[in-house]
Amino acid sequence: MTTLVLRGIGELCTCDPRRGPPPGVVRNAAVLAEDGIVTFAGPEAGLPRIAAGEVTDEIDCAGAAVIPGFVDAHTHLVWLGDRSGDYAARAAGATYEGIAASGGGIASTARATSGGTEEELVAAARQRARAMLAQGTTTVEVKSGYGLGHDAEMRMLDAARALQVDPDMPDVVTTYMPLHARSAEPAYIDDVCTRGVAAAEPRARFVDAFCERGAYSVAECQRLFVAAAAHGLRVKVHAEQRSRSGGARLAARVGAVSADHLEHASDSDLRALAAAGVNCVILPGAALMLGGPPPPGRRALDAGARLAVATDCNPGTCYSESMPLMLSLSVALAGLTPAEALVAATAGGAHALEMRDRGAISEGRRCDLVVLNSRAWIDVAYHLGGDVVRDVVLGGRLVRGR
Ligand SMILES: [Zn+2]
Repeated sequence: MTTLVLRGIGELCTCDPRRGPPPGVVRNAAVLAEDGIVTFAGPEAGLPRIAAGEVTDEIDCAGAAVIPGFVDAHTHLVWLGDRSGDYAARAAGATYEGIAASGGGIASTARATSGGTEEELVAAARQRARAMLAQGTTTVEVKSGYGLGHDAEMRMLDAARALQVDPDMPDVVTTYMPLHARSAEPAYIDDVCTRGVAAAEPRARFVDAFCERGAYSVAECQRLFVAAAAHGLRVKVHAEQRSRSGGARLAARVGAVSADHLEHASDSDLRALAAAGVNCVILPGAALMLGGPPPPGRRALDAGARLAVATDCNPGTCYSESMPLMLSLSVALAGLTPAEALVAATAGGAHALEMRDRGAISEGRRCDLVVLNSRAWIDVAYHLGGDVVRDVVLGGRLVRGR
């Protein structure tokens, strides 16, 4: 058995609702993990006695704050190519739609990515995943979607799964997203709804589609979701990002796990999502970079929905691996309190991935946690762009820091 003890935690943010108002803080705390699972989290005075020979590793937090590892529930981590030209063009006044119409945008990433080997895809993604881990992300969802065809989509999923075998990477969850950039092939949707979903079944947990004008219609997305459900793939939707296109209502109708973006969702859309138990995932980095309405964090909570915040890490609209930055942006742009933002980035992300074994520091969950470079947990949001992460523990093992 491996045993990890963390002592001297000034503020332990459990993100466990049983510990009181969010983020469920316990002061002067300790955490004990055995074989990667938390077996004690609470006041240090209550830490069970452990014989010296039984402790595999011990972390002295010296008064620092500890939070759960971030669960980044929406990323496009696997890509090749360079979109810095798009970024410069947008800064000079070009629109997202205008760039796409002139051959840039998602289609240019898809051209570069679909031409890459699996090894090239893994190498590019590994570098970004390492940067995520360094900033406290212990679980990351990774979508396909730049393949533009069957073989390249499967290669993207295989590349994401190849990251899973590396013990010093965040835990990876994969999503098949064949409907992303609009395909010029008339038979493309037929193909993804037959061969695609069957091949994705052993490779992915979720299916996703970009429901938007210029991308895919409600009817096309629904057709994919029905076909994917027959293969056990759970549904996610890119909904109401650039316009109110009906993706949120579709997510509610099909019982999706999550509806993501939602900047253009109405309050009644958000209530429909809440009533259907659909997790709302806001992506404040993309909202900031693209302009337009703010991410509806406050509105989703007021509608009664469960909320997650994620990076949307992608080359076009949010080239960021940083969950601490997304917390800051959630407070600044989406009207969340720092505590709500922290819960959305941890427990909320776990719900948006249907992973009940993580997202909070409590007995029986995976020991995924972050020791901050601060005695005050609030600095994870308050210190904008700061170097806030000291140590990262993944499955009860120190993987970063010290
Ligand atoms: Zn996305």
